[in-house]
Amino acid sequence: MKTITLRAGKERSLQRRHPWVFQGSIAKGGGDPGETVRVQSHDGQFLAWGSFSPTSQIRVRAWSFDEAERIDAAFFQRRIAQAVALRPRLAIHSDAMRLIHGEADGLPGLVVDRYAHLLSAQFLSVGVERWRDVIADALLQATGCQHLYERSDVGVRELEGLPQRTGWLRHPEGDPLVTELAIREHDLRLSLDVAEGHKTGYYLDQRDNRKLFADLVRQLNAQRVLNCYSYTGGFSVAALMGGATEVISVDSSGPALERAKAHVALNGFDASLHTALDADVNATLRRLITEGQQFDAIVLDPPKFAPTAAHAERAARAYKDINRLAFRLLSPGGALLTFSCSGGISADLFHKIVAGAGLDAGVDGYIVKRLEASPDHPTTVTFPEGEYLKGLVILRR
Ligand code: SAH
Repeated sequence: MKTITLRAGKERSLQRRHPWVFQGSIAKGGGDPGETVRVQSHDGQFLAWGSFSPTSQIRVRAWSFDEAERIDAAFFQRRIAQAVALRPRLAIHSDAMRLIHGEADGLPGLVVDRYAHLLSAQFLSVGVERWRDVIADALLQATGCQHLYERSDVGVRELEGLPQRTGWLRHPEGDPLVTELAIREHDLRLSLDVAEGHKTGYYLDQRDNRKLFADLVRQLNAQRVLNCYSYTGGFSVAALMGGATEVISVDSSGPALERAKAHVALNGFDASLHTALDADVNATLRRLITEGQQFDAIVLDPPKFAPTAAHAERAARAYKDINRLAFRLLSPGGALLTFSCSGGISADLFHKIVAGAGLDAGVDGYIVKRLEASPDHPTTVTFPEGEYLKGLVILRR
């Protein structure tokens, strides 16, 4: 067993059960990619078992803080079974949910989503990469699913020295291998393709916020709705469910918009209630302002503008820009649902950015609710960085 010795004073983070060891904290020691190492303090005290990553700034991701625990197949079976057992204790109103949420579920670098009968996984660190087969078997065992698709086509794998990879990891013999499927989410029916969709196939983290939006649209009797960064139109169909009579979805992905149109039909709504705009959101907001348009409800759910805190400043300007434009399009009494999924932007900072945007637009509003990811994307007390999605519901005065 290889040992990593930390510099004096650098043991505190692991002692508080934070799972990452940065390169700068290490005095000596190393290992192969994904190899299990023993991490100890400068004076030899055990701190954690972890996986070593020779190329990443995060050199070690802790598996366990218990010296007696062995990191073997049984360890992964236990952690996966524990994560799967948590989900029925959370309020998840869908047959699609996140089963493994990386660090929060004690499996750093592993993301697994369940879509009806199928699992879709991302292996984001060399640690989980090394145990990929064990993890795949344990996932099938814990869920009873027979289909596991891999979506490790994610840029962060490069930081770990790993190539991108997609394809079937497990499936029944002779199976026709269909990646297209249907799910239910609250009252919505949705479809997705785990091979083609974003992330593992869909944005499950917004499930409860889409439901909240449907209820809000009904409560406010909102008629005209603008859904920016709509992807496959989850918030758009939610708006129709809430009684909206004119919904515009804006996204720069043509295939996503095609599916948004299909979702309108799948949920029993007339196509004439919905318009899909294949366009840049910023430019579209400016055009709509020039045209003097107004909306009773607007959703802003942009992609991650700040992947890390280092990008926060430029991202803050981009968030402020779109929020300022959206405020100007809001009819009096209208509602703005605005989000950031950037880990590098705290909820507090996001609040300030949106407040600044309102001020610049000359629009005041009531912040009636703060939003976060649905509960199958848990945050643990030891790893607050896991909290990434934040949102606000604002009612225009
Ligand atoms: N609200 C969606 C998820 C949005 S993800 C849901 O509930 O499912 C972010 C989306 O922004 C992606 O679909 C991506 O295609 C789109 N996008 C990224 N940059 C864009 C831009 N500049 N203009 C329009 N859409 C953009």
